[in-house]
Amino acid sequence: MNTEWVPCSFCEGKGKDPFDIMSSLSVCCVCGGRRVVQVRMPYTRCSHCRGTGAIKTLTCTVCHGKGFVTAPAGPTTVCPECKGTGDDSSAPSMDCLKCRGRGWIPIRR
Ligand SMILES: [Zn+2]
Ligand SMILES: [Zn+2]
Ligand SMILES: [Zn+2]
Repeated sequence: MNTEWVPCSFCEGKGKDPFDIMSSLSVCCVCGGRRVVQVRMPYTRCSHCRGTGAIKTLTCTVCHGKGFVTAPAGPTTVCPECKGTGDDSSAPSMDCLKCRGRGWIPIRR
């Protein structure tokens, strides 16, 4: 399994909690202050949070704040439910149920 270290999207590689939610624990809860996160290769930008790792001030539930999700091995198509945004149509802060927030679904062969 190939993995790669990428700068943490949630804290923009700063290692600090970007929203100061826990002032006593100011390290980023996603990377633990390491400034980088490990992602599995191949990876792609998370659609739900637009690669920022955050939905408002919460960590994105789809990529867990990393800003990247593991790319599929096979062919994919744009999710017809959310049109690739990864957002639930009724509540944009929720992830799309059909594609689980990824914005794409694997094409079944
Ligand atoms: Zn971080
Ligand atoms: Zn995300
Ligand atoms: Zn979708």
